[in-house]
Amino acid sequence: MVYVCPLCGRRFRTSGGFILHVRTFHRDSLVYGDFCLLCRRGFNGYRGLVNHLVTMARRGDCLHLLAYYLVTGRFNRVDDHRIEALRKCYWVGE
Ligand SMILES: [Zn+2]
Ligand SMILES: [Zn+2]
Repeated sequence: MVYVCPLCGRRFRTSGGFILHVRTFHRDSLVYGDFCLLCRRGFNGYRGLVNHLVTMARRGDCLHLLAYYLVTGRFNRVDDHRIEALRKCYWVGE
């Protein structure tokens, strides 16, 4: 499995390397505090933000899914087949 950064195109062999890269270089373009920078919407607390990210991710929005993993630190679930939206995301290639 190959992880392609949707923001700069860099490729990674492991989810750990990929998430570290996104966290280091792109975090500021996804979320800021309780603010979703993708929609330019603010939320009332961490839970509100996470609910928003999950809702958008379930609709198949890959950048919101990425932000969700960043915020919750649950990116190791990237291989979880139960997360249907993830299968469609272009940063996860074969
Ligand atoms: Zn990148
Ligand atoms: Zn958003």
